Amino acid sequence: MITIIGAGIGGLTTALAFEKLGIEYHVYEKAPELKEIGAGIWMPPNALQVIEWINPSILKDLQLHGNSIDRITLADLQLNPISDTDQNFAKEQFGFSTIAIHRGKLQYLLLKNIPKEKITMGKAFKSYTSLSDQKIEIVFEDGTQTTTTYLIGSDGIHSKIRHQLFPKSRLRYSGQTCWRGVAAYEMNPTFDHNGIEMWGNQLRFGISRLQKNQVYWFAVALSEPNLKDDTVFLKDKLIDLFSDFHEEVIQLIKHTPTDKIIRTDLNDLKILKTWHHHNICLIGDAAHGMTPNLGQGGSQAIEDAYYLSNLIASQKDIIQAFSEFYRLRSKKVNSIVSQSWNMGKIGNMRYGSRIRNFMLKNVPSSKLKKQMISLYSIDKTISNK
Ligand SMILES: Cc1cc2nc3c(=O)[nH]c(=O)nc-3n(C[C@H](O)[C@H](O)[C@H](O)COP(=O)(O)OP(=O)(O)OC[C@H]3O[C@@H](n4cnc5c(N)ncnc54)[C@H](O)[C@@H]3O)c2cc1C
Repeated sequence: MITIIGAGIGGLTTALAFEKLGIEYHVYEKAPELKEIGAGIWMPPNALQVIEWINPSILKDLQLHGNSIDRITLADLQLNPISDTDQNFAKEQFGFSTIAIHRGKLQYLLLKNIPKEKITMGKAFKSYTSLSDQKIEIVFEDGTQTTTTYLIGSDGIHSKIRHQLFPKSRLRYSGQTCWRGVAAYEMNPTFDHNGIEMWGNQLRFGISRLQKNQVYWFAVALSEPNLKDDTVFLKDKLIDLFSDFHEEVIQLIKHTPTDKIIRTDLNDLKILKTWHHHNICLIGDAAHGMTPNLGQGGSQAIEDAYYLSNLIASQKDIIQAFSEFYRLRSKKVNSIVSQSWNMGKIGNMRYGSRIRNFMLKNVPSSKLKKQMISLYSIDKTISNK
């Protein structure tokens, strides 16, 4: 039996991949239910290829409930394009362009395809004890226990399993905080299928339509860590902060319920030298938490599900599969972690934003295409189903 802790994007897709390949598993999630919380999320072609492999009908659901992003545009604060990555290229190469979807909807569409008896909600992992080579005892916060042969930690960037497995692991604060929301607003239809990130001076603002009258936005600013907002003044504060930005930005903030605006300090995880020890393995943000600047954290968790499940299905020795999983995945993932970190530093740089924008405008499209290929490719040969 393999026990998965955490029913986020990584845990849910791993469960679905195990389901497809006939691998025995059970998932425990601390939240009593997965509500429509969160804001939007971009699912790029690498994630969509895995979802299609898991179950084409889930992909259809995502396409139905999300919005196809046909251009990803980096723009200045007045929405003038700096650079543009044409997703048609991705479509030709990989079959898909990016989909923007509500995060709660994504999780719901994944969850509904997992048999109810294989997931226990409202069970928070507390600690584990290795009883023997083949037996791990798991203790939950409510005092109950269970045993398992293998344990997968998909419990997110603040993973308790990782804290116990690798107590020296550390998060790295980027110096940036991010507010996210979903506005009940119809933007100028020119932007219907555009994913936009606007770079100003020490500030960034991202926009993408999710559905009719639903626009996802995120706003990134430099900040001390762990600050809380006074909800009474939050919208005014954001409007003030982004007052130099295009009027659409101000409208989006105005059309978002204050209590639905989420603030997250942007951290990544200092790169780990391994993601497993014996019969315990980390995946997703627990293994390789990254800043969201490339929109790849969730997608990399989904890729983890693909590689790990196929390795387990083909290897018999699951501990060997855990080692092989790190060997196959770490190069790409670690490179994305550092590219994402650097992108955030450039995006919110304190000085020289004009020179930065000028240089970005002149990045050859061949370079952007090369980056898309390295981000969006998955190895199809490891799957035999
Ligand atoms: C502002 C922002 C924007 C982002 N945008 C994108 C994007 O556009 N595209 C993209 O691909 N990625 C994006 N990401 C990254 C993405 O959200 C994460 O990489 C992704 O959620 C990681 O999935 P995960 O399953 O590893 O962890 P999570 O999604 O964090 O899931 C962890 C799960 O474990 C559960 N859990 C935690 N502790 C316990 C416990 N003790 N016991 C039981 N359960 C537990 C949690 O409740 C949760 O359900 C963004 C991140 C941020 C912060």
